[in-house]
Amino acid sequence: MVGAFQVFFEGWIFIFLALCAVGIIALLVGALWMYQDAQSRRMDATIWLVFLIIATLIGTIVGFVIVIVLYLVIRESHPVGGGMPAAYMPGYAPMQTPPVPAACPVCGRPMMWYPQYQRWYCPTCGQYR
Ligand SMILES: [Zn+2]
Repeated sequence: MVGAFQVFFEGWIFIFLALCAVGIIALLVGALWMYQDAQSRRMDATIWLVFLIIATLIGTIVGFVIVIVLYLVIRESHPVGGGMPAAYMPGYAPMQTPPVPAACPVCGRPMMWYPQYQRWYCPTCGQYR
């Protein structure tokens, strides 16, 4: 016999499990985004990641949302780059392009700037300069 209490209880278990599932999916997506975002702002990405995981495990999606909102508020005081020169940020390629395209010293055609390599590339010669 299935009592009313049991149906009520199973309903809450289902809601709780659904919240856990949503929390885990949000955690995977949110943690990845937050970690990269925190790194680009020179914030302590690892601390925030641990904080987000613990909060999500305890409070499911509610804990997740609280940490994300908290993070969004705090990140406002941490601009991208953190005022540090790009050379001191390994793995972070700034989207800075020299204003004037340099001419190839061999063929004289304009070259393309590759920020990830920090080098000029001549498509005509097919070589980096
Ligand atoms: Zn060339």
